[in-house]
Amino acid sequence: MKALVIAVDGFASCGKSTLARDLAQALGYRYIDSGAMYRAVTYQMLELGLPPIESVGLDQMLGALDLKFVTSNGINQLMVNGLVLVSELRSKAVNAAVSPVSTLPSVRLAMVALQRSYADGTGLTMDGRDIGTHVFPQADLKFFVSARPEVRAKRRQAELIASGDTSWTLDEILENQAQRDLIDSNRDFAPLKRAEDAIDLDNSDLSREEQLAWALKWVEERGGI
Ligand code: C5P
Repeated sequence: MKALVIAVDGFASCGKSTLARDLAQALGYRYIDSGAMYRAVTYQMLELGLPPIESVGLDQMLGALDLKFVTSNGINQLMVNGLVLVSELRSKAVNAAVSPVSTLPSVRLAMVALQRSYADGTGLTMDGRDIGTHVFPQADLKFFVSARPEVRAKRRQAELIASGDTSWTLDEILENQAQRDLIDSNRDFAPLKRAEDAIDLDNSDLSREEQLAWALKWVEERGGI
């Protein structure tokens, strides 16, 4: 049995984090939500009034940025410069700005260095857009997740409502998803792309438990269980 690095990539709101989190819990691995890191950078840029372009201000902000994943009430959360941010990272302003910010090479270089530092041989699941292609091209197991756009939007709306945010219509969510997928897939630096050796998963008609059971079979096949 070996501790694996598992990459989970795919489009916006397709259940990547749920799968990566459930796998980590089942296997006793560490889970990293790489999207939350790009959201944290975006949040800080908005707070400082920095435009989504390369700048000295951006370099200074990235140099001083302290990101730490902490477990609070059994939930993995991101601490940004000493503050746990949750709903702040999912605001409309962050959702609108995160994909343009994520095209910036200085942002990606800083985040990728941090993401790679989490692979310490004790088992890791990480979800994102470029984990299997760029962050960990040698990952032991790679999943590329998709689901029908309306299924994804409905799931995201249910999540937002559960977190107390009732401000999004289904159309707004669909529009934001499509926008982000377009920008994420077409940027120059490490775009969202299926790794050639990734295993495809369309989870539109799968329950959370079915998805996990299916993925655990692949973990077993790779010697991870
Ligand atoms: O996963 P999540 O939807 O929270 O990601 C938010 C945004 O962060 C994505 O739309 C994308 O622009 C960016 N991202 C990225 N590379 C990753 C993870 C997220 O560019 N590995």
